[in-house]
Amino acid sequence: MTTANSPSVYYDALVIGAGHNGLTCACYLAKAGLRVLVLEDYISIGGMTLTEEITLPGFKSDVHAFGYSLATLSPVPDELDLKTHGFELIHPEVSLSHLFPNNHGHISMYKSMEKTLDSIRKYSDRDAGSWKKMFDEYLTDRDLIVSMLNTPPVNQGDTKSTSMENDTKFEALELAGDKYRRQTQSMRSWCNENFESDEVKAMFGSFAPFVGLSPDDAGGGELCYLFSSIIQDGGNNVVKGGFVNLPIALANYLQSKGGQIMTSSRVKKIILENSRAVGVELINGKVIGTRKLISSSTDPSTLILNLIGEEYVDSHLASCIKRMEWGDAIFGIYLALNGPLEYKSGQEILSKSAQVHISEAGS
Ligand SMILES: Cc1cc2nc3c(=O)[nH]c(=O)nc-3n(C[C@H](O)[C@H](O)[C@H](O)COP(=O)(O)OP(=O)(O)OC[C@H]3O[C@@H](n4cnc5c(N)ncnc54)[C@H](O)[C@@H]3O)c2cc1C
Repeated sequence: MTTANSPSVYYDALVIGAGHNGLTCACYLAKAGLRVLVLEDYISIGGMTLTEEITLPGFKSDVHAFGYSLATLSPVPDELDLKTHGFELIHPEVSLSHLFPNNHGHISMYKSMEKTLDSIRKYSDRDAGSWKKMFDEYLTDRDLIVSMLNTPPVNQGDTKSTSMENDTKFEALELAGDKYRRQTQSMRSWCNENFESDEVKAMFGSFAPFVGLSPDDAGGGELCYLFSSIIQDGGNNVVKGGFVNLPIALANYLQSKGGQIMTSSRVKKIILENSRAVGVELINGKVIGTRKLISSSTDPSTLILNLIGEEYVDSHLASCIKRMEWGDAIFGIYLALNGPLEYKSGQEILSKSAQVHISEAGS
């Protein structure tokens, strides 16, 4: 496919999307010496890690994501020296609390495992033992889990395409029957199997709806286990000044390496020549060329069906993309408060919690 317009300018690499993943990719490309341009549709960078004054001036809200729980497991902040580019993490002492209405108390997850267990014991000794056992299991698998989070996913249809080392690790995990079962288990089933107290089930189970899974969706059990373990392990870290300070630090790093970012620049299509991506066309008609590569952090459906065009990709890939199911929507309420929230019980602990969930137990 060619366009009537020729590129007015060329870069080594174009990155579509200035969320934190697109920017991270751009930083590593710039670090490797490439001349990089990031193109972002929105008026500012950040994607789903935006922080904006959406209520009143001076009140900053993290519009989507707020907790950077994976920060301590990712090599990125250190490798890109983000501290010197304005990135700072806060490590709240209490990672998460679940509050039960009508004076039914609360359970909290602390950075200290002993304190978390004490909090669970208020509701069930047995459940404290279950959590200790599960967390010990996580610690045994920790290196493997972290390496899987930080390496490309294994292509299960073509094991030769990945390193033998990764395949062996993956099989070691997958062959353990209980672990494999948990990957397909729903949140409700996992909670009922592992805990007896409705309050404890509510705290651990809340990680599934937190990311848009219903209690009976497949995979919720694994998600609750991993989310709780990672937060127990590394804390529920918050980016000082708002999550947007992560993409801002990445942008600072990128610019220090000569990379550029253009906001309010929606990519309309990727231009192909002889099946090779050679540039992009923006909605304003501007054409930008690339000498080496284009990387996109849009969702796969936008990339394949809109930006490239299904006629240019394998028909099986296009049909797989079309059957992709979008998750349920969630809604948020943003408030400008005239002071910290006051809780009728547990004020001291709840006011120190990075995150407070509220629900009836057993609901
Ligand atoms: C409500 C909510 C809460 C969340 N909470 C957390 C949390 O607490 N902790 C956590 O770790 N994760 C959380 N997440 C998930 C996390 O925010 C995302 O996984 C992450 O931000 C994705 O980053 P990304 O860079 O891959 O994509 P995005 O942040 O989506 O960035 C993609 C960018 O591409 C741009 N774009 C799209 N199409 C085009 C185009 N055609 N041309 C140019 N630009 C384009 C978009 O405008 C966007 O800026 C949450 C997500 C949501 C929705």
